Amino acid sequence: MALIVQKYGGTSVGTVERIQNVARRAAKTQAEGHQVVVVVSAMSGETNRLLGLASEISKTPNARELDVVVSTGEQVTIGLLCIALTEMGVKARSYTGSQVAIRTESVYGKARIESIDDEAIRADLAAGNIVVVAGFQGVAADGSITTLGRGGSDTSAVALAAALDADECVIYTDVDGVYTTDPRVEPKARRLEKITFEEMLELASLGSKVLQIRSVEFAGKYNVTLRVASSFDDGPGTLITLDDEEENTDMEKALISGIAFNRDEAQVTIKGVPDRPGIAAKILGPVGEQNIEVDMIVQNIGRDGTTDFTFTVHRNDFKKSMDVLHGLVTQLGGGEVEGNDEIVKVSIVGVGMRSHAGIAGKMFTALGEEGINISLISTSEIKISVAIDEKYMELAVRTLHRAFELDKSESDS
Ligand code: ADP
Ligand code: ASP
Ligand code: MG
Repeated sequence: MALIVQKYGGTSVGTVERIQNVARRAAKTQAEGHQVVVVVSAMSGETNRLLGLASEISKTPNARELDVVVSTGEQVTIGLLCIALTEMGVKARSYTGSQVAIRTESVYGKARIESIDDEAIRADLAAGNIVVVAGFQGVAADGSITTLGRGGSDTSAVALAAALDADECVIYTDVDGVYTTDPRVEPKARRLEKITFEEMLELASLGSKVLQIRSVEFAGKYNVTLRVASSFDDGPGTLITLDDEEENTDMEKALISGIAFNRDEAQVTIKGVPDRPGIAAKILGPVGEQNIEVDMIVQNIGRDGTTDFTFTVHRNDFKKSMDVLHGLVTQLGGGEVEGNDEIVKVSIVGVGMRSHAGIAGKMFTALGEEGINISLISTSEIKISVAIDEKYMELAVRTLHRAFELDKSESDS
């Protein structure tokens, strides 16, 4: 007998029929002799609808109350799923995050999980129940409802799997695994049999929303066996694995595992600022004070005692960033501000990059041949990211997919 945590995302519970489908799948796993904990998201579109209601009342809704509102989507799904299971003659009990309790820091909208009480769930499982837990939500020390950030049900599932020492955590979604890139952008994208935690972390942090980044961090830290698979059929999905020796020595292994993109980027530049030590801090200090997260950064080589400084931010922070830079120009008594909120970031990721040179060259050549101009570049050991005009995003993804032969299976290459 194994203990299995299954998570079903919004599309997978998007209608009453789909909730009944989830009930059948969970019941089947239990009938095979396993203990089953199911974590569910809100029905598709529901979280956005709830956010929309709040934004009709306020541009800056109170963060605590906003979490009270958006956490209700998941509560509906757990109740409906348990009703469906009961109707099938299967014992089931639902839990909200606070009923579990999934304890988090006192931060609204993006709280981190601190601990999970597992006694009640264990007792229910031992009594033959399927336990159904609301994803995306937790409870702060003072009893306030918190939420874990968009896509947070993935993290709820992995955290529960870690707390319960589950044998496996399966993230069931509307695609049948992790692909070489988002199959909605490149239909030739290919499902990966497995991917390392390290690569999955990069992909998630660079914009692949198939798994919330914190869920991957959690699974890596607590050694949770994690798989992504389809809620609609029975394929093997994709296993997230430790970076094993075999991968490093396998010469056949693809250099690049996947391509991620992020549409929410904006770029700002301050030109003609004095080129002297400390200027970067002078610019980024006030930006940080406004709680603006900076991603890619470039400082041009100075000429005539001045330099240009460019960085990217989340598109939501574009206006705020421009305001900060305009303020700096006034303070420095010179310079010029430019901005572009129509850029995207496209990244290639692969542990194979470590042992191979020339990957950046290949990437830039492929983009250049399609006339795609690169405005910023950033690299790490296992990824290369470029900022480009948003109108070229799909073209860039497909071009790189082809250039790195990601549509070919590993055994073809
Ligand atoms: P859920 O509601 O089940 O949590 P999400 O919409 O959060 O589902 O995540 C699944 C989606 O992630 C897919 O429908 C797909 O469009 C997108 N996606 C982005 N990158 C990838 C990738 N590399 N592999 C698979 N899916 C991806
Ligand atoms: N319902 C939440 C969201 O839409 C959490 C999730 O689906 O994982 O972001
Ligand atoms: Mg998701």
